Amino acid sequence: MEKKDVNWSSLGFSYIPVDYRFVAHWKDGKWDEGHITSDSTVTISESAGVLQYAQTCFEGLKVYTTKDGSIVAFRPDMNARRMQDSAERLIMPKVPEEMFLRALDEVVKANAAWVPPYGSGATLYIRPFLFGSGPVIGVAPAPEYEFRLFATPVGPYFKGGIKPLRIMVSDYDRAAPHGTGHIKAGLNYAMSLYPIEHAHKAGFSENMYLDAATRTYVEETGGANFLFVKKDGNLVTPKSGTILPSITRRSLVQVAKDYLGLDVEERPVTFDEVKDFSEVGLCGTAAVISPVGSITFNGGEIRVPSGMDEMGPVLTKLRETLTGIQMGDIKAPEGWIRKIM
Ligand SMILES: *Cc1c(COP(=O)(O)O)cnc(C)c1O
Repeated sequence: MEKKDVNWSSLGFSYIPVDYRFVAHWKDGKWDEGHITSDSTVTISESAGVLQYAQTCFEGLKVYTTKDGSIVAFRPDMNARRMQDSAERLIMPKVPEEMFLRALDEVVKANAAWVPPYGSGATLYIRPFLFGSGPVIGVAPAPEYEFRLFATPVGPYFKGGIKPLRIMVSDYDRAAPHGTGHIKAGLNYAMSLYPIEHAHKAGFSENMYLDAATRTYVEETGGANFLFVKKDGNLVTPKSGTILPSITRRSLVQVAKDYLGLDVEERPVTFDEVKDFSEVGLCGTAAVISPVGSITFNGGEIRVPSGMDEMGPVLTKLRETLTGIQMGDIKAPEGWIRKIM
């Protein structure tokens, strides 16, 4: 198959419409079969649940070409299940795992010419999402829903090499106790735009959010979980009911234990402890791990011992092991790589 004429390595992270996407409708208590369409637009009621009361959730995952030329997805069943958890919390119908995976396979096959080649560093980013499409005016769950899954090619995350980030502790909160921080809801992002704009204007890449109730524990950034390396080389990652359960973080924890023989503590982490760690990283689908070199807070700055020039040795090893698993250079745990073509 002929690939599209795209300069893969110069792509950024922005929406480029590709040829096909998947759409399914939920009405009268059930999902239709769903189908592939070339229509990249959505037509819904002006009073749709998503437009009036933000009844929507999404997922994000990567599809890429491995060394042997296969086109694969990394743990898409985890995204399917997480989307079901999000749907439940927002009173939306669950997308069956079978339909989620079928949508993924069909969209990738239909857009095979858009899957970046092995070695380009680029990937095909997949965006599944679910929203209330039927009309509401009183506050209530919408009577109809739409599930869509589209793809867009994105460039290598680290272009000029991996540079540690400068982040700041936000005065705003990301998620309330017993709120929606643990689900991938659009509403969590709408309210994060103001604090992230503030951080960017102040010269920082990301916000570190603390727990809203006591402001003593580290939660996460707007879109990535934290990983910390202790002075003894073992890992710590914050545990809290208001953190989004990152698939990358859960995979890295397993890789750290099973492939690298590290000890991993998943527990509440106080902000006071952060100054004692030797490496700090952010993890998520896009970058796998991004190093953090400096954390500014009211009244000070924590300079992470691994510095502002490169990623520390433990996170580097961890990142290389997971990307090696993803690319097929290292044997993956059972079920982690879904071969699509
Ligand atoms: C999506 C997301 C992450 C990262 O999750 P991955 O599954 O690893 O991509 C982390 N935090 C938030 C708030 C997110 O929405």
